[in-house]
Amino acid sequence: MKFDTKSVHEGRKPDPTTGAISTPIFQTSTFVFDDYGKPKEHDYTRTSNPTRSALENAIAGLEGGNKGFAFSSGMGAVNTVIHLLKSGDHVISCDDLYGGSHRLFSDIMTKFGVEFTFTRLDDEEKIQEAIKPNTKMIWIETPSNPLLNITDLEMVSKIAKENDLLTAVDNTFSTPYFLKPIDYGIDLVVHSTTKYLNGHSDVIGGAVVTTTDKLAEDIHFLLNGMGTNASPFDSWLVLRGIKTLPLRMKKHEQNAMAIAQYLKDHPQVKEVFYPGLPSHPGHEIARRQMKGFGGVVSFKINTDVGQFLRGLEIFSLAESLGGADSLVEHAATMSHASMPEESRKKAGITNDLIRLSVGLEDVGDLIEDLDQGFRHKN
Ligand SMILES: *Cc1c(COP(=O)(O)O)cnc(C)c1O
Repeated sequence: MKFDTKSVHEGRKPDPTTGAISTPIFQTSTFVFDDYGKPKEHDYTRTSNPTRSALENAIAGLEGGNKGFAFSSGMGAVNTVIHLLKSGDHVISCDDLYGGSHRLFSDIMTKFGVEFTFTRLDDEEKIQEAIKPNTKMIWIETPSNPLLNITDLEMVSKIAKENDLLTAVDNTFSTPYFLKPIDYGIDLVVHSTTKYLNGHSDVIGGAVVTTTDKLAEDIHFLLNGMGTNASPFDSWLVLRGIKTLPLRMKKHEQNAMAIAQYLKDHPQVKEVFYPGLPSHPGHEIARRQMKGFGGVVSFKINTDVGQFLRGLEIFSLAESLGGADSLVEHAATMSHASMPEESRKKAGITNDLIRLSVGLEDVGDLIEDLDQGFRHKN
């Protein structure tokens, strides 16, 4: 089956008892046993639930992994994956990553003796140098958040395999519609389903896709043991969102590309970050490894940030991304406020940086809105 067909059908079948074409929401905590010692397929919703299983199978199918798991949030998914490690282990991570992941790694996991090195993963030698005897995992976001840096997954996965390291890709920005990390040898794919997979800004959720039986067993053990699972209703909403993923991603990308072009030539814009622009340093790699460049565009402005933001009407000032509604945010004080100033500076997340999540509205209206922002005074 092709991707568009899988988006509609993967993981789902009409309900055998009623024929309902929409997967039912099994809003139950527990399932009655057939007999002493004879549970049915599901016994307790933290462990597994039919609505969640449908979502998990759908995501696993779209990513091309062996098993999928759905979590209460993207951070629940990241947290569960990082718990594959133990005290004394070391992780190499890209340096501009989701602020919450950075906080989990450097402020929480370090308390339990897990070590992290944050670096730009754009150079083979730099990665080799960062590897220590206790290194166990490489954590990647491509395109990264908020600067849209591109990592060559084939290159990283080759180094990881030579050194017996696990690789995890946070694929929230690309979704499997544009990028399938497993095709390049990546071991684990992580999502905040809050963003594009659900796509309607009405759920907090996460997902992990594994590639081996051992990883699937370990992730499920942690999910069940730590209680990081998604609820049946949230699972259903994400499952519903995925049906239109290809249509939405196409439109997000078309709109984002037009906006990146508009910003590139604007006198009040210093620099535009969008992997679809040939001027982007990761453009060639992105073209090779992705089917499209996504819906997030970041840029630095040379006028007052507050004035610009106050002039916008369609772009709402809010964190998050990936929904139908266009959003704008100031990374340094919003999504990446939890990152220490020094780490932000090192990663290039400066105070003049603005991130757009380009939505599904008419692109002419969106550009007019940005124009109004640039002209706004006070
Ligand atoms: C939002 C986001 C997360 C965290 O997801 P939540 O659903 O907010 O917990 C992780 N990684 C990336 C890239 C994100 O954009």
